[in-house]
Amino acid sequence: MNTSSTSTGTNDSTSDSPSGRSGGTGGTHRDVDVLVVGAGPAGLAAAARLAALGAGRVEILEREREPGGVPRHCFHRGFGTGAESVDGPAYAGRWTAAAERAGARLRTGVTALGWTGPLTLATTGPDGPAEVRARAVVLATGARERPRAARLVPGTRPAGVFTTGELQQSVYLYRQDVGRRAVVVGAEQVSYHAVDTLRRAGVAPVAMVTEYERHQASPAHATAARLRYGVPLLTRTTVTALVGHGRLAGVRLRHSDGRTTTLACDAVVFTGDFVPEHELARDGGLVLDPGTLGPAVDMSFRTTRDGVFAVGSLLHAAEPAGTAAREGVLAAVPVLAHLAAVPGTPRAAPVPVRVDAPLRWIAPNLLATATARQAFVLRTARFLDRPVLQVAQDGRVLHHERLRGTAVPNRTVRMSAAWVRDVDPDGGPVRITVPGTTGGTPAPTEPPAADGGTDAP
Ligand SMILES: Cc1cc2nc3c(=O)[nH]c(=O)nc-3n(C[C@H](O)[C@H](O)[C@H](O)COP(=O)(O)OP(=O)(O)OC[C@H]3O[C@@H](n4cnc5c(N)ncnc54)[C@H](O)[C@@H]3O)c2cc1C
Repeated sequence: MNTSSTSTGTNDSTSDSPSGRSGGTGGTHRDVDVLVVGAGPAGLAAAARLAALGAGRVEILEREREPGGVPRHCFHRGFGTGAESVDGPAYAGRWTAAAERAGARLRTGVTALGWTGPLTLATTGPDGPAEVRARAVVLATGARERPRAARLVPGTRPAGVFTTGELQQSVYLYRQDVGRRAVVVGAEQVSYHAVDTLRRAGVAPVAMVTEYERHQASPAHATAARLRYGVPLLTRTTVTALVGHGRLAGVRLRHSDGRTTTLACDAVVFTGDFVPEHELARDGGLVLDPGTLGPAVDMSFRTTRDGVFAVGSLLHAAEPAGTAAREGVLAAVPVLAHLAAVPGTPRAAPVPVRVDAPLRWIAPNLLATATARQAFVLRTARFLDRPVLQVAQDGRVLHHERLRGTAVPNRTVRMSAAWVRDVDPDGGPVRITVPGTTGGTPAPTEPPAADGGTDAP
């Protein structure tokens, strides 16, 4: 698909039906039943499921010219599981086709700018400004990697500075020359995908740099990079400055013993360190979770605004695409329940779920019902060997769980939701802690094999 503002719907109920009224934006006004913002795996899956279940007019807005989200420019395999694992564009194509078949209407090249009513969004696209009013809105706007400036790396503004997403788009979508020698900042799964992309583009990855004591990726990927491709991993090392005018000439590094060195390179890729695309959530006054920085949601993907739901990387960057898509599918039932509910039905105040250091965040992070439909996902800031997770509310311990392996920063940690039924709706916040934790584990040369408690994208 390469046209903007394209209908992929086949079902009459999803046909475009502008009312002809002028919206508050000065453009046209449309009414739909469900508006999904973002056509990545999460948004496409939500729209496909909702349309298939008869939610009515389901419309998806995507600011890019093509649907598919991040997988669109990930030309490696690993999307989906086992024998069904495919490369990113194929995976994106599957979900786009599913949404198409179900009758959802896909509008590409259209950006949701902000809210003009509780469930009304102002948009801009090839047809000009418009206002779309929905009975329910699903936010699936994903996440992005923090760029160099946001990581406070000083220096000039030379060419040759990328995030993984920018690198992949430059190499695979635009076939641009990205350099000869590159340094990769980060050592998580996505960082190794950056190494693979550099090699496919004929760029030598001269080093990987991480502030952690070891890498945070699958051992197979990390070993291949180090032994087969000869890419050294500089641990406990920080990028302190970029050097070069016009074109990048090197990166300045500070090592754990205080030494500083400069590594010559004409490209640097800042990988991982994801931040949710939460602008719409923030603009709409939705409560953001202090850990994830995405909208706070309960186990039914309900945000703090009635009728507004959120799914995918926006909630927890960056889990595997299958997790994002599964959430889109799961969100369909609560969205339908909302559509069927009497407007204005009062909702009990949800119970917040918080984590203490060294944990960084948990999702979902609100509890509104006693149903446990999914596990929680968490992240840790440090390596923790077989940690015990403790769940407590107002001094009452609800749950203990020992993870089977090592909890690794930048990788998923899963925790059972069986304790949710024991939460007191009036008992105040639930806290997740790791009792007895004072720090991380010493750095071995290789991390232990991935275990049941973790899952890399
Ligand atoms: C480099 C890299 C490699 C990866 N490799 C793998 C892998 O091998 N296997 C795997 O399972 N997962 C992988 N992942 C993770 C996977 O890509 C994500 O889990 C998945 O893309 C999340 O889907 P999503 O729909 O939540 O968000 P996204 O895919 O980010 O989609 C969000 C969409 O919303 C759109 N959008 C945002 N704001 C607006 C707006 N205001 N208006 C309109 N549209 C908007 C964006 O343009 C985007 O298309 C990888 C991620 C990265 C970054």
